[in-house]
Amino acid sequence: MHTLSDQPHIIALANQKGGVGKTTTAINLAAGLAELGNRVLLVDIDPQGNSSTGLGVRPEGRKLTSYDLIVEGAVPQDVVRPTGVPSLWIIPANADLSSADLEIMSREKRSFLLHDALHQPLMDEYQFDYILLDCPPSLSLMTINALVACDSVLVPLQCEFFALEGLSQLMLTIRDVRRSANPSLRIEGIVLTMYDLRNKLTAQVEADARATMGELVMKTTIPRNVRVSEAPSHAMPVLTYEPLSKGAVAYRALAKEIALRRKNPMLTEA
Ligand code: ADP
Ligand code: MG
Repeated sequence: MHTLSDQPHIIALANQKGGVGKTTTAINLAAGLAELGNRVLLVDIDPQGNSSTGLGVRPEGRKLTSYDLIVEGAVPQDVVRPTGVPSLWIIPANADLSSADLEIMSREKRSFLLHDALHQPLMDEYQFDYILLDCPPSLSLMTINALVACDSVLVPLQCEFFALEGLSQLMLTIRDVRRSANPSLRIEGIVLTMYDLRNKLTAQVEADARATMGELVMKTTIPRNVRVSEAPSHAMPVLTYEPLSKGAVAYRALAKEIALRRKNPMLTEA
């Protein structure tokens, strides 16, 4: 709740691999945190705009987007929109964002544009408790902007072969951002997605991840669940689409685990 601190807790959902559950986790974690009584903003910074579509933002609702906020300096009041979920707002994205990296490349503050946009005084009136950043599947300048703007990174890890390989590249990038632009950047955690013990690799990836990353791996795992994949086509989080499904139950547990960590911060400095 907003009494915890005056500033929203900003979490980036990042992994340069596509299809690992960044967007699904962004939408459903956002809905879970909102259900707990928080005011939540989801910022879509993937030009594919999947989290915008998954929350039912129609093309006509995307005239002004995260591109306008980040590249053009639009004010939050022009881009923050309500969603069908109470206490959940979104800044949508569309294909405009695909040229953003090139457009901002020569700017001196190119890595700080999202940071400065989210920390401007005009954001204060919304009194957000959490801001989630749904990153594109790359370590592009947009992802760097998210790592510079956020307090912590939550890394969705799909339980499949090579899952851990990509992680070391991401960890190096996080280390670079810490050294250069955001010294207090924390790792919120690694969340195992599409978890399915009928697949032998799931247990193996989990064992490897917990052995090498320890406490950083969230206790909550997200099961592979068809309701989770159906929900976006109904423009809803799975928490509203099928509130008692395994996927919805898991995302509620993840929201609680993250909210609890915020109240009792543990050592997640890795
Ligand atoms: P990313 O944003 O990392 O590219 P997505 O969140 O879009 O990944 O997920 C990739 C695909 O996997 C989507 O089709 C999504 O519906 C599906 N998916 C994600 N999580 C689950 C899950 N827990 N159960 C079933 N399908 C899932
Ligand atoms: Mg995505």
